[in-house]
Amino acid sequence: AGAASLALTLSACGQSGEGGSEEGSGSSEGATIGIAMPTKSSERWIADGNNVKKDLESKGYKTKLVYGEDDPDQQVSQIENLITQGVKALIVAAIDNKSMNNVLQQAKDADIPVISYDRLILGTENVDYYASFDNEKVGELQGNYIVEKLGLKDGSKKGPFNIELFAGSNDDNNTRYFFQGAMNVLQPYIDKKQLVVRSGQTELTQVTTLRWDGGTAQKRMDDILTSAYKSERVDAVLSPYDGISIGILSALKSDDYGSKSKPLPIVTGQDAEVASVKSIIADQQSMTVYKDTRELAKVSSNMVDALLNDKKPETNDTKTYDNGSKVVPAFLLEPVAVDKANYQTVVVDSGYIKESDLK
Ligand code: BGC
Repeated sequence: AGAASLALTLSACGQSGEGGSEEGSGSSEGATIGIAMPTKSSERWIADGNNVKKDLESKGYKTKLVYGEDDPDQQVSQIENLITQGVKALIVAAIDNKSMNNVLQQAKDADIPVISYDRLILGTENVDYYASFDNEKVGELQGNYIVEKLGLKDGSKKGPFNIELFAGSNDDNNTRYFFQGAMNVLQPYIDKKQLVVRSGQTELTQVTTLRWDGGTAQKRMDDILTSAYKSERVDAVLSPYDGISIGILSALKSDDYGSKSKPLPIVTGQDAEVASVKSIIADQQSMTVYKDTRELAKVSSNMVDALLNDKKPETNDTKTYDNGSKVVPAFLLEPVAVDKANYQTVVVDSGYIKESDLK
């Protein structure tokens, strides 16, 4: 099913899954698995939650799925409840990666294995496995898209071009990987002054967007356009996530970008959300990074299934993910750059988004 239809199905029920805790007989059969997702404000997490639930149920597990409304305290108490309710394993996509120490100690004390889902949980030994995408690669795809489309990569253009940089939430461990990946590509051009950041805001701490909020990004873009682009024009914007890209595009459009005389800059994104794929088709957002969350759901469900059956989960990490307390064994999936040229094959033909949702 497409992400949007999943969104509809799932947002109808605040907390889904079987009611009542099931005390297993020591075997994994019929055990209940707790799934804690960060927010329903973005399609991807609705799809993630639904896919994990479906995969676990197809393996004979029961599930309890909760969403934390982007509030770290709420998420922690939801996980406490899941532990009290007797879940046999936890799959957690953290809102604040540093807020989990106490609650994961409780999980450990109750012998509940924990899978860190998509976002690495930091500063605790009580994380068993990590399932995610190659997060640095996500940023590299975004950075590469910018230098290719500007003509800098093949040397057909020399610039200078104006670029502004946006990063994700500072409490999400992925943020620094995305930004690092993008800067690996962009920094050499900034050093050669072929790319110029007129706002002067180039440090990660200056460009983060709390809780990935599109409105916050829109406001920052507005401010940058007012203060640093009086007669100049912005040629590219590094955006880490589709919701942020939509906010950035709103700011640009209210400053007359997108009109005949003032073309929109290149704007990147991530997640292949329906609104952004539509925006790509309409020549507004330039690209997004597609991460097949159906695969991520499978990987993490398989990890749980292995752990509860005393098997070793499959890992493939060539890049190590150290959470400050331990290197967490990981399985990393490949992200794919998507623009108008390949969205049909990559996101529609694969069944990730239904064609009819893009109308
Ligand atoms: C995920 C991204 C997502 C972002 C905002 C990150 O942790 O990896 O896919 O765009 O959170 O939800």
